[in-house]
Amino acid sequence: MMAQYLEIKRAHPDCLLFYRMGDFYEMFFEDAVNAAAALDIALTKRGQHLGEDIPMCGVPVHSHENYLQRLIRQGFRVAICEQMEDPAEAKKRGAKSVVKRGVIRIVTPGTLTEDSLLDARSSNWLAAVAETAGGLGLAWLEMSTGELVIQPVERAGLGAALGRLDPQEVLVSEKLAQTPELFELWGEWKARLTVQPNPRFDSENGRQRLLALYGVGTLDAFGSFTRAEVAAAGALVGYVELTQKGRVPRLSPPRRVGPGAVMEIDASTGRNLELIRTLTGERRGSLLATIDRTVTGAGARLLCAHLAAPLTDPAAIGRRLDMVAFALTEERLRGELRHALRSCPDLERALSRLTLGRGGPRDVAAVRDGLRQAAAIRQLLGTVGPLPEGLAALDKRLGEHAELVDQLTQALAPELPLLARDGGFIARDYSYALDELVTLRDESRRLIAGLQGKYAEIAGVASLKIKHNNVLGYHIEVTAAHADKLMSDRGRAVFMHRQTMANAVRFGTVELSDLERRISEAADRALAVELELFAGLVEAVSARADAIAQAAHALAALDVATSLAELAEERRYSRPLVDDSLAFTIKGGRHPVVEAVLDSAHGGPFVANDCDLASDNRLWLLTGPNMAGKSTFLRQNALIAVLAQMGSFVPAEQAHIGVVDRLYSRVGAADDLARGRSTFMVEMVETAAILNQSGARALVILDEIGRGTATFDGLSIAWACVEHLHDVNRCRALFATHYHELTMLASKLPALSCHTMRIKEWQGDVVFLHEVTAGSADRSYGIHVAKLAGLPAAVVGRADEVLKLLESGDQNATIHRLAEDLPLFSAALKRPAPKAEAAAVAVAGPSAVEEALAGIDPDSLTPRQALEELYRLRGLM
Ligand code: ADP
Repeated sequence: MMAQYLEIKRAHPDCLLFYRMGDFYEMFFEDAVNAAAALDIALTKRGQHLGEDIPMCGVPVHSHENYLQRLIRQGFRVAICEQMEDPAEAKKRGAKSVVKRGVIRIVTPGTLTEDSLLDARSSNWLAAVAETAGGLGLAWLEMSTGELVIQPVERAGLGAALGRLDPQEVLVSEKLAQTPELFELWGEWKARLTVQPNPRFDSENGRQRLLALYGVGTLDAFGSFTRAEVAAAGALVGYVELTQKGRVPRLSPPRRVGPGAVMEIDASTGRNLELIRTLTGERRGSLLATIDRTVTGAGARLLCAHLAAPLTDPAAIGRRLDMVAFALTEERLRGELRHALRSCPDLERALSRLTLGRGGPRDVAAVRDGLRQAAAIRQLLGTVGPLPEGLAALDKRLGEHAELVDQLTQALAPELPLLARDGGFIARDYSYALDELVTLRDESRRLIAGLQGKYAEIAGVASLKIKHNNVLGYHIEVTAAHADKLMSDRGRAVFMHRQTMANAVRFGTVELSDLERRISEAADRALAVELELFAGLVEAVSARADAIAQAAHALAALDVATSLAELAEERRYSRPLVDDSLAFTIKGGRHPVVEAVLDSAHGGPFVANDCDLASDNRLWLLTGPNMAGKSTFLRQNALIAVLAQMGSFVPAEQAHIGVVDRLYSRVGAADDLARGRSTFMVEMVETAAILNQSGARALVILDEIGRGTATFDGLSIAWACVEHLHDVNRCRALFATHYHELTMLASKLPALSCHTMRIKEWQGDVVFLHEVTAGSADRSYGIHVAKLAGLPAAVVGRADEVLKLLESGDQNATIHRLAEDLPLFSAALKRPAPKAEAAAVAVAGPSAVEEALAGIDPDSLTPRQALEELYRLRGLM
C-alpha cells in the first residue's frame, strides 16, 4: 500500500494527498505534518518506512469539506485520491492485493464548486495571462457558474485588470513569471499565482482545446480573438481538465470584453476608494456593502462584477439605468419580483456541479425550483405595460422550461439526501421498476415484523423480539433467562444461536436470513435503478444547460436591477445622465458610505456639495484644514462616477457625467496604511502612472500628493504635478492639498480654480461646516485639530505661541531665536535630526557642543585628557 501511496504522491508533488482508506482520507509523511499543523488535528504514526516511523493524520470523509476549505484558504492544493474498486474485489485477487486507487480531482482555490467551499455572494475566478508576439491576453472563468470571459490587455494595464477581477488563482507560464517587467506585479499576486509549463500557453493548442470544448469548427462565431487571448483561454480550459482529471463543467461561450469597454480602475485606486473592500480588507464599510440590496447569491456576484467594471458605452449604461428606473416606478412589481427572487436557489452553481458529475439530488431540485421561479417571474413581468429594452431581453432569456420542470417535479421525492448514492430520492409512481423493488423490500420487512409473533409462540417466550443491527442484520433476541427454551432440542430445530450477551442471547433462523437477503437484494437493485434514473435526470438538465444558464443569468440581472431601484428609493438617489461629453456636473452630491454611516449612527446630516469640472474649469484645487471633509468630497465624486457608469442611480440631486474611461485616486503616502508600504516612493510611482497615462477622459483624484517629504520638496512636486495635469493631461481632476502656495497657480492656469472647505471660528474654536466653496483657505487650523485630538493643553498653548512667532516675520530668524531662547524647541533641534527635520537643522547651524566635538582628535588624547574633554562637553550643554 505504501508503494501505491508513494507512486501517486510522486505524480502530485505540489499537492497534499488525501488518500482514501475506508471512511477516512489519510495523509502521510510531510503532508501529514503540514496538514496536522494547519488543521490543528492529531498527528499519529503508522508503520515504518526506511526504518523511520511514518507520520500520519486523517480527516473523516463525511466531514472532509470543512477541512478542505481550511486547507485551501491557507494556500494548499489538495489531490483527492479515491478507492476505485470495492475492497472485496481486491481481496478476490489475493489476500495481499491492494485496492485500486486514483486521484479523481485536484482542489485548488480557483477550481472550487461546492457550496460549502464557496462564498455564495462572491465570485471565485480562475484567471490566466498569456503573452504572444502580438500582445497580452487575459481570460478568466468561474468553474462554479461556467462563465468564461476574455480580454486583451497591455502590460501597463494588467495590474488594473487583475485588481478589478480579484481572482482566487492566476495561471501564468514559466516564461511570463520570469519577465522582469512583471516581477513587481507577480510579487503582489504571489500567494495566488500558479506557474505552469510554457506549452500549456501555446495558442494553437489553446485553439484546438476550445474548438473541441464547444464542438465548433471555428471560434469566429464567438467573436474575433487575438492569439494571446486564445492562448489564455486555452490554458484555463487545460488547467480545468488537468485538475478535474478530464472532466470540464459546462462553460458558456466565451464573452469578449473589448479594449476600452470598461472603466479602467487600477488596483490601488479600487483599494483606495474602498469599492469592494475597505482598506482594512473588510466587506463592511465598502461601497459594495453599502449599496448591496440583492437577495440572491448570483445577484450579489453580478452586482460585484458590475461595480468592479463600470461601462464606458453610454447606450449600454442607459439600458441598465432604464431598468432601474422602471423598477423604481413599478413599485408593486418590484416587491413581487424581489419576493419571488428570494426563493430562487443558486441555479448557476447547481447546474455547474451537475454537469461536472459532482451534483446530488438537491442540485437537481435547485434547478427545478429555480426554473419554476423563472416561470413565475415571467408571469409577473407579463402583468405590466411595455418593458424597457433591457428587461424585455431578460424576460426572453428566462426562457421556457415547463417540460423539464414537470419531469423533475414528478421525479423527485419530497425529502432529498445530499448524495445520490444514499438513495431514496425518487418519488413514488415515477418508475414502475423502482416501485416494484421498493414494494418487495417493504413486503419483506412486513413479513419479518409478522414473524415476531410466530417465533414467540414457537419458543414460548412472549418477550421475544426481532431486532436489526449492522453487524448481525435481522436477528431474534431473548433475555438470558429464556435462552434455554430456544436452545432445547425442539428449539434448535428452528433457532440458530448467534451471539451471547451479558443479559441477552441472539438467534437467527433460515427464514429470517432468507427474507433479509431478499430485502438487501431489493435495496441494492432499487439503488441501482435510482442511480440510473438520476443519471437520466442529470442528462435531461445537461441537455438544456445553456438555456438554464441564460435563465440563471437573467435572474441575477433582475436581482441587480430591482435591488438598485430599492437602493435608489431608500437612499434618495437620482438618475444620472451619462453621455459622450466631457461634462462632470454634480449638484448636491453625497458620499454614499459616509452618508450611510452618519445616518445609522444618527450623526449630523451629511452636507451635500456641488462639483462642476466643465472644460474651462476642469481642475479644482481644494484647500482646507484636516478633518474639514476634503477627502470625503474628492472620493464622493469618484464614487458617483463609478455608480453612474455601472448603471446605478447616484447619491446626488443631479449628475451629468461625460464618460470616464480611467479613474485614478491617489492619497499621500502617509494615508496609504493598509499596504504597509507607506513610502514616498510608492506615492511617486503611482503619481507617475497617472501623469503618464491619463488623457482627457480620465478622472483624477489626488489627495495631498507630496506630503511624504520635506516641505519645499513636496510643494515643488505638487506644483509641477498640477501644471502637468493642467497643460498635458487636460483631464478632469480634483487636487486636495495642504500647500496653500499652490493657489497662486490659479492666476497662471486658466482651467484651474480654487475651492476650500468652509470653516467657522466660534469662541476660539473651529467648526467644520463641510461645505465646499470657491476660494482658498487662509489657515490650516492644524493646532485646532490637535486640540480636538486631546494633545495636552501645555503643548497646544506652546504650539500656538510658536505659530504666532513664525507667522509674524522672517521664518529663518524666528527659528534661530526659538532655538536659542526656548528650551522645548532647542532640545529638539540639538537632537540628531530625523530626515524630515533636516531642513530646519541646516538653518540652525552647528551647536556649541558640535563645534567643540569637531575640534577633538580622539587618537591624540590620553585617557585622562579624554575624560577632561568629556566633562568640558557636558559643561557646554
Ligand atoms: P479631510 O480629508 O479634510 O481631513 P475627511 O474627508 O477625512 O477630512 O473628513 C473628516 C470627517 O468629517 C469624516 O469622517 C466625516 O465624518 C466628516 N465629513 C466629511 N465630509 C462631510 C460632509 N459633507 N457632511 C458631513 N460630514 C462630513
